[in-house]
Amino acid sequence: MMKHPIIIAGPCSAETEEQVRSAAKDLKDFRLPASAGGEGISFFRAGVWKPRTRPGTFEGVGETGLPWLSRVREDFGLSVCTEVASARHVELVVKTGLEAVWIGTRTTANPFLVEEIAKALQGTSLHVFVKNPINPDLGLWIGAVQRVLHYCPEHVYAIHRGFSDYHIGQLRNAPLWRVPIEFKVQMPEIPLLCDPSHLSGNTVYIPELAQRALDLNFDGLMLEVHPRPSEALCDAGQQLNPTTFNDLMHSLMWRKSTPSDDSLSEEKILIDAIRTRIDVLDDDLVDLLAQRMSLVDQIGEVKKRGGIGIIQIERWNTVSSRTKNLATEKGLDDTFISEIYRAIHQQSIKRQEKIIRDE
Ligand code: PEP
Ligand code: MN
Repeated sequence: MMKHPIIIAGPCSAETEEQVRSAAKDLKDFRLPASAGGEGISFFRAGVWKPRTRPGTFEGVGETGLPWLSRVREDFGLSVCTEVASARHVELVVKTGLEAVWIGTRTTANPFLVEEIAKALQGTSLHVFVKNPINPDLGLWIGAVQRVLHYCPEHVYAIHRGFSDYHIGQLRNAPLWRVPIEFKVQMPEIPLLCDPSHLSGNTVYIPELAQRALDLNFDGLMLEVHPRPSEALCDAGQQLNPTTFNDLMHSLMWRKSTPSDDSLSEEKILIDAIRTRIDVLDDDLVDLLAQRMSLVDQIGEVKKRGGIGIIQIERWNTVSSRTKNLATEKGLDDTFISEIYRAIHQQSIKRQEKIIRDE
């Protein structure tokens, strides 16, 4: 039997009491498929304090929303989770009687704030979810989790929500799966969830991100679910409605994290887990090659404009010897790297030839 996955679902923000109750009403009867243990959601989420990147956007309803969350607990029997960004927030959440809090990505990046929040958590029975810092700094993430563990060692979890970057293509945040994988290696006792909503910024990409997280043996998912996503005051594009949330949960392939029968040997599980990590690296390799070729094309355009020849032997010799040295430093066979670079060089020449020939 698979370990019960931890599912956190609910709107990005509490906007009105009606909206919060509508989301809670829809989620209270939700059940995971039997293959995932058949349980309901572990926590209902809704932020009342919203740390926004830029002023002038909706920053949450603040304390006003806390009684709404309290009534959701009482009336729908859900455990409730909200974001805290200061010791004062923790005090108010404790007074309200909620079950859980999460520390947002911008807060995790600030050790002073994390320390202050961690101290305020001492002696409470809150479950605490620590999102990764906004920058891909594994030490800062682990450090934040350690600060929380120091004051309240029970019920501490981590959430991978991706990393902010200047150039990241279609997704809102760069997944950099290597970082959460390394987090798991270094902090194996901390359950790790994935937040495909903030990773994607767009519901279109949520299924594949959620599936990848499950393939990588994440322990659960945090998903934004809004009764009417298009009317959401923030993060409208990435919030599922209750039906699409339910459909998604029932279409994912929930993997067994431990061998449960003879057909699924421990070796097979290990190999599958390592293969998934290889797939992640292959994604990065292909992506890097695509980026490299796009730079090669840019040089092709410049050469075309300047009437400069394609093959520059000196440059090629530099690239070739530099990469051979790098390969040796990393313990790779230098002829192996030379062969790969020969193929890359040939492909680069081909692309530039095409650019120069095309009118
Ligand atoms: C959120 O969960 O609504 C949120 C603000 O998340 P993050 O800190 O990951 O941006
Ligand atoms: Mn959000």
